Parts: sequence; C-alpha cells; structure tokens
Amino acid sequence: MIEQVVDGVWWVPGRDKFFPDSHVYVIGKAGGGDFTMVDCGLTDMGAYKLDELDSAGIPLKEIRRVIMTHTHFDHIGCLPEIREIIPELEVWVHKDEASYLERGDPRIVYGNSMFESVVRSQYNLRDDFFRISVSRKLEGGEVLLLGGLTFRIIHLPGHSAGSIGLFNDDQRILLSGDTIYADGAIGRYDLVSANPSELKRSLNLVAELGVDVLLPCHNRIVKSGAGPMVKETVRQWTPLLGD
Ligand SMILES: [Zn+2]
Ligand SMILES: [Zn+2]
Repeated sequence: MIEQVVDGVWWVPGRDKFFPDSHVYVIGKAGGGDFTMVDCGLTDMGAYKLDELDSAGIPLKEIRRVIMTHTHFDHIGCLPEIREIIPELEVWVHKDEASYLERGDPRIVYGNSMFESVVRSQYNLRDDFFRISVSRKLEGGEVLLLGGLTFRIIHLPGHSAGSIGLFNDDQRILLSGDTIYADGAIGRYDLVSANPSELKRSLNLVAELGVDVLLPCHNRIVKSGAGPMVKETVRQWTPLLGD
C-alpha cells in the first residue's frame, strides 16, 4: 500500500508478476497542486497505482509530469495507460534514452532480444508502443523545484545509458532507480546500453553523496541511516566492474 516516506515523498510499491513491476514515487507537498511521478511500472500495472494515489488524497489532475529514472520495460510499460487517464502528463527523460523513445526504438526498453520475445508473447503490444515524445530532455545537473522539494538530477549511466538518480540535499534522499538497491544488490550491467565501467563510476559517485534515505525502484527501501549500507554495497561490487 502507498506510504508517505517523508513529508512530500510518497512510495507506491511495485507488484511483481511474471515480470518485475517498478516502485513508483510521487514528489510534492500536499496542497501544493504540483506533483511529480518518478517512474510508472509494468504494462497493465498502472491502474492500481493511480487508485492508491487517489486514495491518498493526491488529485490525479495535479500530477504534472513523470520523470523516468530510465526506460526499461518494468518502469515505462504502463506509461501509455497512465497517459490515457492523465493526458497532460509530461514525460521527462535523460537525453540518452529520450532519443530512443522519440524514434520508437525499443531496444533499451526491452534490454535484450530474449526479453523482448518473452514480453511480446505475454503482451500484445504494437510495434510503435514505445514511440513516445519527451517534454524535457535531462542532462544531469539540473536542480528542480518539485512541489516544494528540491531535487537535483544526477546522471548515473551504467545500468542503462540514461539512468539518473534524484537527490534531495536537505534530507539526503536518493531515488536511485535501478543503479543501487537497499539489499546489497546493484542493477544489471549486461543489457543494451549498459556499461560496467560507467556503472562503477556511478556507484562511486553515489557512495560520496552521503545518502540517508535510499529509495530504489525494486525491493525494500531504507528510511534512514542508509549511508554505511550504500558504501558497503559499492565497496563489494566495484572490484567486479572492470576499470
Ligand atoms: Zn532497469
Ligand atoms: Zn527495474
């Protein structure tokens, strides 16, 4: 069920099925009229998330944009169905993945051809299902005021070319996407556009942030004191990631 992790940051846990379903976070203080979703989730898994947001008192028409941590299928699959309900929803994506979406190239979405064929046998998706226009192309370094909270965008390539994290310096909150999780794991680095050396650099960057609240897109979250766990995860993984 939906939970407010800190004032103005909501967590809607994913509900994994045959495939993982990413968590969704919503940023914005109550009554501010300006909410931002971070990621969407798996195909067919949009409706329950919007129901939970609605029941928590977040008016759907006040959700102005979705910022994608990256465009893998388990994060972007239900974006089209969410946009049927919130047609004005803007899509903000790092430029390195925006270019794929805008030309309808789904290779990053699916990650590899085996996964694509499994998905295609499970869902009946049009070939241009992931041709999506992007309202704002992020580069990393942007400082965004989102519904009363400030987050900066950190480009964290490695799990995918356009993976980003969102970091709030005041409360040291990191929305880490699939770059690093709260259970000692890190994101896969074998999929289309992934790069282990870049992931190593990104993890080292994350280790230096001084994260206190770690909000990844799968599995458990950490509401305080995440710093030592983040550093230990990075210390364990980086020797395996090449130069
Ligand atoms: Zn991913
Ligand atoms: Zn994922």
